[in-house]
Amino acid sequence: LTEKLQNVFRNLRSKGRLTEDDVKEAMKEIKRALLAADVNFKVVKNFIKNVQERAIGQDVMNGLNPGQMVIKIVNEELISLMGSETTEIKLQPGSAITVIMMAGLQGAGKTTTTAKLAGKYKLKGKKPLLVACDVYRPAAIKQLQVNGEKQGVEVFSMGENHKPSNIAKAALEHAQKNGNNLVILDTAGRLHIDEDMMAELQEIKEAVEVHQTILVIDAMTGQDAVNVAEEFNQKIGIDGVIVTKLDGDTRGGAALSVKAVTGKPILYVGMGEKLSDLEQFYPDRMASRILGMGDVLTLIEKAEAEIDEEKAKEMSRKMKKAQFDFDDFLESTKQMKNMGGLSGILSMLPGMGPMGGLGKKGMQLDDSQTEEAEKKMARMEAMIYSMTPQERRDPDLLNPSRKHRIARGAGVDISEVNRMVKQFNEMKKMMKMMGKGGKKGKFRLPF
Ligand code: GDP
Ligand code: MG
Repeated sequence: LTEKLQNVFRNLRSKGRLTEDDVKEAMKEIKRALLAADVNFKVVKNFIKNVQERAIGQDVMNGLNPGQMVIKIVNEELISLMGSETTEIKLQPGSAITVIMMAGLQGAGKTTTTAKLAGKYKLKGKKPLLVACDVYRPAAIKQLQVNGEKQGVEVFSMGENHKPSNIAKAALEHAQKNGNNLVILDTAGRLHIDEDMMAELQEIKEAVEVHQTILVIDAMTGQDAVNVAEEFNQKIGIDGVIVTKLDGDTRGGAALSVKAVTGKPILYVGMGEKLSDLEQFYPDRMASRILGMGDVLTLIEKAEAEIDEEKAKEMSRKMKKAQFDFDDFLESTKQMKNMGGLSGILSMLPGMGPMGGLGKKGMQLDDSQTEEAEKKMARMEAMIYSMTPQERRDPDLLNPSRKHRIARGAGVDISEVNRMVKQFNEMKKMMKMMGKGGKKGKFRLPF
């Protein structure tokens, strides 16, 4: 694919605006890439049409050729189609009980995901109750019990001789008495969509107030995912989607199809069979994956390198003035990933460029140090993502109770939040010194 793509782009002459021919030619290849990623063909058709409309006549950015410009637009549109930000499951306010119903075909991963979610929310301070509403297979109840036990959360079951709607009702009463504030209903699926399954889910919804209905979709379903999602959304109404089994070699086109057809956000992705393998959904990562990891992506990155450079300059200006805040920090970690790791960001810091700053030893890291640093960085990102926008802009707001909330949100100890804030402040002080052209002190990045 790439070779072809590159040929296409080489043939496009560099010019001010994208012409219809430029766009059509490039889109042919994009279409092939999307279909190969198992995006539903109707979704592909629509997507191509929209992007073409947006792209034709657009100015080609400085430093990009028309082909790169088209890919840049395609990437942006993919990201915005999948929701520009990560979305959380909407919980009831305060101590009110939130009821989540899991829905999906048999084998999609409902039971596993139920237990995964319970673990996540337990960490966030919730007290979950898992409810075995799949009464058709004794093994299903057992599976939920085993997984619940592994997560250290309670499982409510009444065996196989009750209607799921009655089990749900009884479970809610139990939760009220028992102080559970998150009730997750694990329901039965069928191999194919059928009326009985939909009727049963509907009945549960009539018996108890379900706040969030979450559709679980197997990424390997490919083209079929669209029909499944459409049907579930029409018949019972869904609030969000979790896509499982993305650890396989599927490109994840199902995620795009489902989002495009239902308009409902993707909340999490399942990345393995282990109960810890549930990750937040990042639209930009999914877009990269769908476009094909390596090859196409490299082209986009090249296209964006130019823009990154601008941002880096801006950041360096801010650093000098010591206006650097947590948003900039997040941005800088993103840049680091784009710009070749730690050495990339070091060279952006004033006085730290290739010529300045570092002594003979330099900042060479071996693999295990790099890995360690990346892990720390991931935890820092989690902490910053748990801050409110105001807190990111004004770290002075961070009082103990805010820090507690952040620690809970990121699933780390409060001491780690304290350490990060302290290091951040030291880093800022350092920048101020260097910005004034003062002598270079010992400089330590917080990761
Ligand atoms: P249910 O019928 O919808 O309840 O599906 P299950 O939760 O029983 O899952 C079906 C199978 O898929 C089990 O073997 C799970 O271990 C497996 N599974 C679930 N989620 C994932 C995932 O994200 N990755 C992988 N590799 N396997 C998964
Ligand atoms: Mg199940």
